Amino acid sequence: MTKIQMTTPIVEMDGDEMTRILWKMIKDELLLPFIDLKTEYYDLGLVCRNETDDQVTIDSAMAALKYGVAVKCATITPNAARVKEYDLKEMWKSPNATIRAIMDGTVFRAPIIVKGIEPNVKTWKKPITIARHAYGDVYKASEMKIPAAGKCELAYTAEDGTETRELIHDFTGAGIIQGMHNTEKSITSFARSCFRFALDTHQDLWFATKDTISKKYDHTFKDIFQEIFDQEFKTQFEEAGITYFYTLIDDAVARVIKSEGGYIWACKNYDGDVMSDMVATAFGSLAMMTSVLVSPDGKYEYEAAHGTVQRHYYKHLKGEETSTNSVATIFAWTGALRKRGEMDSLPELQKFADDLEAATIETIENGTMTKDLALITSLENVKTVNSEDFIKAIRATLEAKRA
Ligand code: NAP
Ligand code: MG
Repeated sequence: MTKIQMTTPIVEMDGDEMTRILWKMIKDELLLPFIDLKTEYYDLGLVCRNETDDQVTIDSAMAALKYGVAVKCATITPNAARVKEYDLKEMWKSPNATIRAIMDGTVFRAPIIVKGIEPNVKTWKKPITIARHAYGDVYKASEMKIPAAGKCELAYTAEDGTETRELIHDFTGAGIIQGMHNTEKSITSFARSCFRFALDTHQDLWFATKDTISKKYDHTFKDIFQEIFDQEFKTQFEEAGITYFYTLIDDAVARVIKSEGGYIWACKNYDGDVMSDMVATAFGSLAMMTSVLVSPDGKYEYEAAHGTVQRHYYKHLKGEETSTNSVATIFAWTGALRKRGEMDSLPELQKFADDLEAATIETIENGTMTKDLALITSLENVKTVNSEDFIKAIRATLEAKRA
């Protein structure tokens, strides 16, 4: 069998713990036997991030901008316990936050749908993709506890020194305040990424805020989206036969629950945080959730939505058997390979991505799956397998499909 050729490398960002183990298995079993795989490799494992003072993360993000397509393994975001565990020089920042900031991107999360793992919401037939704005609002807010009576104001000092003030509240007793911000630049990038991704995946785009209550803050989001849509995307949407739809967040929530899915739901930062967990859970499993970071000028970084599955890794280290689900990580690779194929006009590479996804889904639908899915499936006569045997079962399905 001749291997599929590639022209431009994919930026490969390796990671930590159990997902690092799966990463190698996926490459060895599902990719390298079929593709003459070209990647530019960056080791984002915590050991290497520490050794390079996190420069490797920055370099990998720059490479993603250069080549346009990256695939990332889950990585540890250090906390105090990790600083001790890995004897870190510093509590390095979340790699995802660093990459997101450099790529100025928006994260799109979508569930992988298989027969036998039914969504809790019975009307949902197609995936719902959540687009979360990943900058500002409550995540970059300043807060104060107000100890006793007194006046709180917002104050803006322009560069020329002129000051504008707005009363927040005249406290008669103790209380709390919060000041948050966003920037036109970030909201504009968010809007462009959403419209572009809708065109890319041929899905309608929904966007919702609380603009009736927040007449300046949320309304600005609404206005920027509308402006960018009218100026840059309206005709393309019409040609593609897809729509952009704005509504109030309360109305959106009600419509989502009654919908059959198949669209992108763009959310402000907090709404996206909360709603993506709700949608992921209702679709069945975090291990079946894909994630892609898209920059406003169309650069892509694919990954799984879950973490490094630390608990399974410690079992693995003790020599115990694990049954860790590799589906979302496999789909990160197929997403990247398909996009590379699209950009470089390599139909064989795109076809391979389709085949690998189909083989993965078929393997589960035929009853072979990891423990997390076996626990929630409605299928009967299920065979629960370990991490490695699941990947091997997919390989067998894939080989039969491509024979
Ligand atoms: P996690 O890795 O997502 O795992 C939490 C639990 O969810 C697991 O213990 C497991 O449950 C289940 N699970 C998640 N993915 C699974 C899979 N593929 N197959 C089977 N079960 C799966 O979250 P965490 O343990 O809270 O975080 C571990 C590390 O990941 C942390 O250091 C965190 O910083 C990092 N993290 C990274 C990313 C990223 O790189 N994008 C995202 C989130 C977290 P059971 O134990 O019940 O089997
Ligand atoms: Mg959350």
